[in-house]
Order: sequence, then C-alpha cells, then structure tokens
Amino acid sequence: MAEQVFHPLPTVPDHPALEEHVLAAWEQEGTFERLREQNAGGPTFSFIDGPVTANKSLGVHTAWGRTLKDVFQRYKALRGFDQRYQNGFDCQGLWIEVGVERELGLNSKRDIEEYGLEAFARKCRDVVVWSSTELIGACKRLGQWMDWGNDYYTFSDTNIEYVWRMLKTVHARDWLYLGHRSTEWCPRCGTSISQHELAMSGVYQDRADPSLFVRFPLRDRPGESLVVWTTTPWTLPANVAAAVNPESEYGLRTNGEWVAVARYPDEELAERRLGADMVGWTYTGPFDELVDVAHRVIPWDEVSMDEGTGIVHIAPGCGGEDFELSQVHELPVIAPVDESGRFYPTFGWLKGLSTVEAADQIIGYLAGKGMLVESGLYEHRYPHCWRCDTPLIFRIADDWFISVRDLRQPMLDANATVRWTPEYMGKRMDDWLRNMGDWNISRRRYYGLPLPFYPCACGHLNVIGSREELEARATEGIEQLEELRRPWIDRVPIRCEACGEAVRRIAEVGDVWLDAGIVPFSTLGWQNPKWVPQGYATGAARGLTTADLPDHAYWEQWFPADWVSEMREQIRLWFYSQLFMSVVLTGRSPFRQVLGYEKMLDEQGREMHGSWGNMIDANDAFARMGADVMRWQYCAQPPDRNLLFGFGPADAIKRELLTLWNSVKFFVEYANIESFRPSWEALNLEGDLAPLDHWLVERTHAFVRDAEAGYESYLTVDVMRAYQVYVDDLSNWYIRRSRSRFWAGGDEAAFQTLWYAIVQMLRVMAPILPFVTDHLFRNLVLDGPGSVHLAGWPEVPDPDRALLDEIADVRRVVALAHQARATSGMKLRQPLRKLVVEGAPAAAGHADEIADEVNVKEIEFGAVQAELRVKPNLPVLGPRLGRELRAVQQALQSGEFEELPGGRFRAAGHELASDEVLVERLGREGFAVASADGATVALDTALDDELVLEGRVRDLIRQVNTMRKEQGLAVTDRIVLTVPSEVEPLLRWQDRIKNEVLAVEIRVDGDLAVERAG
Ligand SMILES: [Zn+2]
Ligand SMILES: [Zn+2]
Repeated sequence: MAEQVFHPLPTVPDHPALEEHVLAAWEQEGTFERLREQNAGGPTFSFIDGPVTANKSLGVHTAWGRTLKDVFQRYKALRGFDQRYQNGFDCQGLWIEVGVERELGLNSKRDIEEYGLEAFARKCRDVVVWSSTELIGACKRLGQWMDWGNDYYTFSDTNIEYVWRMLKTVHARDWLYLGHRSTEWCPRCGTSISQHELAMSGVYQDRADPSLFVRFPLRDRPGESLVVWTTTPWTLPANVAAAVNPESEYGLRTNGEWVAVARYPDEELAERRLGADMVGWTYTGPFDELVDVAHRVIPWDEVSMDEGTGIVHIAPGCGGEDFELSQVHELPVIAPVDESGRFYPTFGWLKGLSTVEAADQIIGYLAGKGMLVESGLYEHRYPHCWRCDTPLIFRIADDWFISVRDLRQPMLDANATVRWTPEYMGKRMDDWLRNMGDWNISRRRYYGLPLPFYPCACGHLNVIGSREELEARATEGIEQLEELRRPWIDRVPIRCEACGEAVRRIAEVGDVWLDAGIVPFSTLGWQNPKWVPQGYATGAARGLTTADLPDHAYWEQWFPADWVSEMREQIRLWFYSQLFMSVVLTGRSPFRQVLGYEKMLDEQGREMHGSWGNMIDANDAFARMGADVMRWQYCAQPPDRNLLFGFGPADAIKRELLTLWNSVKFFVEYANIESFRPSWEALNLEGDLAPLDHWLVERTHAFVRDAEAGYESYLTVDVMRAYQVYVDDLSNWYIRRSRSRFWAGGDEAAFQTLWYAIVQMLRVMAPILPFVTDHLFRNLVLDGPGSVHLAGWPEVPDPDRALLDEIADVRRVVALAHQARATSGMKLRQPLRKLVVEGAPAAAGHADEIADEVNVKEIEFGAVQAELRVKPNLPVLGPRLGRELRAVQQALQSGEFEELPGGRFRAAGHELASDEVLVERLGREGFAVASADGATVALDTALDDELVLEGRVRDLIRQVNTMRKEQGLAVTDRIVLTVPSEVEPLLRWQDRIKNEVLAVEIRVDGDLAVERAG
C-alpha cells in the first residue's frame, strides 16, 4: 500500500460536521488573530457595520447581510488590508420595548408606568444581553470573522452623548423645532411614527375597512345634500369641511345628492355646476349635537376623480393633508382621540371607544339619522405599526423635528459622491432626499435615547450636548444617574441658561435611527481629544463590551467608511440617518460605496412569517444545510432581485458542490496511489506541460481575474458565475480528458497542474465558502500556510485569452455535437463517420480532440448545408416591439433577414438579440444539425456494419467497468475477463478492451465474468 499523503475524502461531504471541525481548528490555532497580525500596518479598508437589533436570535434574513459583510472583509484581508472588524448592536427603541411588553403581559403605556420604568429598563437590557449573546454565537457559526467582544452597543452612554452633541449642533443652526401637526400614530404604542418608518417592509398590508357613503344636508338648498365617501368612520365626528375639485364638474342626482359627474357618467342630472361654484356652501355635519362647529365646502386641486364621489370629507385632526388644508382655509382642528386612540370624554356616547369599536356604532347612528347612503367593505393597502402591527391612525401631536430645508441640497451633493451597487438604489436615495419631509425625531416611549431638550417657561430652549454639561448644570439628581436613560435622567433638572430657573427635560425619547446614524462618529472617536480604553463601554453597555473610545486621529484614519452594506429598506433608514448626521457634522457622506440588496422570500416566493410556519431559524439551517451552502445561496443571488431561500435550493447547491468535491477526491485518490507530494513552491509552475495542462493553467488565471473583477465590484453573483463555469471546465473538460494520465504510472505534469488549479481555486473561493475551502486546502497543502485564509490572494499573470477562446470554441462545438446526437436519438457510445463544423474557426486546430469527444471518425471544417429558420421569441420580443412585431414576424417568415455575429439577426429594420429569436436549422437528409451563437454543426447519422460493431465494443467496455465497480475492485486492480462466444467478433479490438478495463487476459467461455488477476 502506498503512503497516504492526503486524507481520503468520503463520497459525500457532511457539511455541518466538517464546519464544526474547521471552526475548532480556527479557534485552536487563532487563525483570525494571525490574519489580523499578518495585515496589521497594511493599507486600510474601512467597513462600518450597520447594527443588528438585539432582540432576537439569528434569522436567515440577517445571515444574508452578515455573509456579504464577511465575504468582502475576507476578500480584502486576502489582499492584505488592515481592518477594524467591529460588530454593532442596536439596543433601544420599540423593537426592544414591545418584546418586553409581550413577555411581561403589559398592554399599554399605563401598564408600563405601573410596572415601573426602572424595572422595565432592566428587563429591556436583559433582552439585549440575551440576544447579543445568541447573535454572536450564531454569527460565529456562520463563519463571520469579527472582533467579537469589542462590539458597539447603541445604548452606551457614549453613543447617547454623541447623538446629544449632534442635536446641540442642529439647535445651534436653528434647525430644531417643535411641530404641531397631524401625523401617523400607533394607538397601541401611543406614539407618532415618522415618514421613514413607513418605508419599512411589512408596514403596508392588505386590509378590509368599512366603506361608507354619507350624506351631508346642505343648509341653503333644502332637500339637497353632498355625498362623501370614507373608509375611516371614526373621523366623521371631526369633520369640518367637504372638499371639491374647483375644475371638475358636479351634478345633482334626481334624489337630491350632489356628486362628481365623472364618477356617475351615466346618471340623469337635474343640475350641473363647476366645483368652484360650490365653494362656500354650508352643510349640517353628522355629529353637530356633539361637536359645535360650522361646516363648509372648500376647493382642493388634489381631489381625485378616481374613487369615491369626487367630494372629500375633511377632518384636519385626523389626516395629514386635511391638517395642511386647515392651515390654508383657517378651518378648526378637532382632535377626537387620545394617545391610545380612544375618544375623549367630550364626545358624548363615543367616549372611551377605540377607533375600531366606534366604527359599527357610527354606521348604525348615521343610518338612524338618515345620513347613511350605503355601507360595505373596502380592500386596500393600509399602513400598520412596523413593530406591533396595529393599523395606524392620524392624530394631532406636538413632535420635535429637524428641518431639512438647508440640508436637502448638501445631502444630495454628498450622495452624488457615493458609488451605489446596484446603481438604482442610489437613485432611490436621491428620490427620497428630494421628497423627504422634516425629520420627526421624538417618540413618546421609554427605552430610548433621552432627548436632551429642556424648554423653559421663559421661552428659552436649553439643549444639553454632553454628560459633562448635564452635570455642570444639574440642580439635583446627579448622584442617582446610573445611565443616561429614563427614569434616572428624568430626575435631573437643570438650570435655564436664560433665566436661571430649574427646568425639566421633555419626556420624549429619540427615534432609534439617531442611535444607529451616529455610529460613524461615536465608535471612531470623532473630536475626542484622548484615547479612552474601554471608553465606549459606558452606561448600559458596561460589562457587555470592552470597546475603546478612540481619539480623533483614529477617526481621521477610518472615516469615511470605504464600504457599507445593508438591505434596500435601509436607504430611508440607516443609510439616510447616517448620511443626515454626517452632513450635519462634516458636510460629507460617511461612506464611499454601498452594496444594497433586495428582499428574502421563501423558496415559493412568499414572504416569511413566523405565523405562516415558513420562517427558517439560522440554527436550523446550520444543522440541515451547513453554513457554506447558506453562503452559496446568498452569494449566487443578484442583489437587484429577491432571494428565494430554502432547503430545496440548498439540496441543489449540495449536489452542485459535489463537482468541486469530486474533482478534489479524484486528485487525492490518484495522488495517494502515486505518492505525489506537492510543495507550496510548486505554485510557480514550471516544467514540461502537456497542451491541456497549459490550457488549464491559463484557464485558472482567467478565473482568478474574473473572480477578482466580481469581488472588486462587490458582486458575489459574478464570482459565483465565474466559479460555476470554471469548475465545469476543470471537471468536465480537463479531468475527463486527462483521466488516463493519472492512471498507472501517473503523469507528474498532470498531477502538478491539477493540484495547482485546485489550490488556486480554493484560495479564490475562500471568502464565499470559508469552511469547505479551508478543509480541502489543509488537506492538499503540505508545507504552505496553515489555512487558506492566511494564504493571501493568488498572484497570476495575464491569461492567454487567445488560447482560452480556442478551447471555448472546442467546447462549444462539442456541446453542439452532443445536442445534435440527442435530437437524432443516437447515443454517444455509437461511433459515427463525420461531423461538419461551421463558424468556430478557433477550434480548427483541435479536430482530434473533438473527434474523440464526440465519437466520430472525421471532423470537417466547412459550410453546413442547412436551411435556417428563425422565429420571434414572442414572450421576450413582444413586449419590446409592440405593434412592430408583426412586420418582424413576416420578414422572418419569408426569409427576409440578415444573420449577424453572436447569434443576432436583423429583420424589418430591427436588430434582434440571440435570446429574442428561436433558431432552427434543418440539415440535409441523414444529418442532424445544431446551432448556437453563430456556430453550426452537422452530424452524419448514417451507420454501417463497422460502426455498429465498434459501438458494441464501447458497450462491452462500459458493462465490464460497471461490473468491476460492483465487485468492489480497486481502480488499479488487474482482471481476467471472460466473454461469451457471440462477443468474439469484437475481439478485433481486444487491445483497446484490455487497456480500458485493465484486463491481463480475455477468455472466450460461457458468461461474461470479471475476476481479479492473481
Ligand atoms: Zn405599535
Ligand atoms: Zn428660562
């Protein structure tokens, strides 16, 4: 038995087990620490992690982003870049609060206050501690290399102080104001919801609401009334006006109802008027006995003729546009419901009812009064609270805003310096910046950044910019200030800088995107005079991390980030809040490049929901598919399309991974037989290579370059595509065509070449598949770096593209020949006389290889006599050409077209791409024809006795080799072959048979039998 140089590989890898093994090796050998040491002092690559919310365990959604971040950090590390690797957690806000409320069975803000804010804050922190521990464990299992233990936590006092400082700057520039307006409001959470939060996925959901047509009797036109339509009956008690489009025509139906003519086109109308003529009419409101207010008709250009009656019910206390109209027309503003969405006591019998409970009663009441025209249900997309799923309402509220008037253009300019992948996401950001309203930064909640605003009765607004300033101005309570957080901070009044009176903080906390947006400053030590060891581990973060607060020089070194990456939804969230705060503080973008990606759905294309049972926990995925397979799924995905993730695609990937696995297994098996011992030095491949070896080396270099281009443009999908084509070339061309060189005697050049190609490929794929590549690398590399992750990026010369094009043409011709065989039903083992090849000139020097591959006696390069038929590919071409399609179709049908290079055609003045046409070539009688991308082959399918016999020889060889396997013979075992007498005519080829089945002797006697030679 030869020495086992390499560990033999099992037939199929057990990915989860293999990965646990590799993780243990990394841990034991300190592989990541060694990598960081190796790159210390190198050029820097600055990545800033968008914080993951610490309120859950790792889901496969989050693992997608985590994988992309890891892939590019690993790639940059292979290229020698020094990196920070700081991970981050988002630790405050509704995410955390609502989870704790559920756990404690609390249902309202009053419940929380009764439970006690101090205890509530402790519970919220517990969630963060639990979740961050879970997330770190799962991210390690995913293979993510980060500086675990030095993570940033946004509830750190230091982080809070940095937001304070930003807010103080905003105030100094006069951009901070208290707004009074109608805003989207969650009645369960008891807080307003801002414009960017509405952009979060899952906010807009289909929902059936009541649909009401209501009559408003006109005061000066007896028997006549306006009819309005609404889907929010609870807003009717707040009605003060009815809006008409002044340009549109309205008509009086015979039953006395005024409606827009455009909405009732077939109606007989007693009178017609322009909307402008109705302005100023007064009417009786539906709840006049509860609410004493005058109602009138107002003009509004935005009244749509697409739904309802063309007359719009206006309640400025319950709608954003309604509120704006109240400012223009000096309408009274009636606010009917309190923070929890229940009617105020002044609303009589409605008192205490929720907006939902009130609906039925209002409908009944209107019917009783004869004001209800019609009621039913209406399906529409309606916004819900992103955290608790409660349908939102509109409510008048006083919220704190940052004006964007002076910031809009600087933010657009800053965004113009950013390179976005995919590009359209940068345009989305531009659109958002052009249309964004002022930033509503206040939330009426508990576990969040305390807004440092202290408005004084004297009219002065005090804004605190740091803990130091707070301590200097506090009148009491500093000794109990454990964290910059409610309830402790609420017990610290300060002295007003204008009048000297003690003044209290407002109760509101900040939008969580303030917490995350400040990270490029708070974690990098912006304007911090002196490095503070563990200076970030303050407040609630103490004990969870050992992160330092660096000094300003460090910030200069690492700001802005070279690259950030999150899902598309973050355009209006984290990318926006970071950009906003960075433009305020520095006037420029905090990142140079962004990789965004679309949504994840289940493998059937449905949203994943806990309640639908199609959610996948990352731990389940680790156990059932393995991290490499998950990472493959993420990385093969174009970022501009939704990822359909699941166990079905995972099984397909596992099968596809076998091509790589089997190639290495093949190498290991034969290299062990020959005791082939490669050395790391052999990467400088020298010596006599066969032409095919030479090709594989060049092919490998081309792959390295293609992958490099993919990584450099942050498109893992390009790396994966390059890899898939490369592995196919390696396995289905090089190995398959070189097999015999690895058998008995072993050809040193073949071993060298294959080892070289595999090792280089493992290095290229290490960032994407960090486990299986390291596992195989450690097996194949005997004296080099101890891990593929320490081996750096392969340095290769420019590939010989001419040679590669040549073999690409050969493979193309072979594929076409196989296709022609398939259509004629002629199996590959049956030799044929001739193949005619047209349009692949680079393949001409490889006639022998082609003949061998496609099993024909002769290759002829020349014109293929075939009739060309071209038809339009309707699903593709139809939408593009529209009415022009007919002309193109006719031209193609009558043969009036021109063939262009690359499989394109021109017909009726249109150029048609290769995927826009269906091409068929009909060969002469006895020939099977196939064609693609400008190359055509014709296979002579005629058989003669000689060919038939030879086909039987191939059948026999195959049959014997199957028997060898079934009998468990080793690949090197010699045999004695016994064949029945009817096979005797085939023995004209006995040398070939012996050679291909490793037979030392062939006996003619009885049944077919295989026996190991003694
Ligand atoms: Zn809510
Ligand atoms: Zn004052």
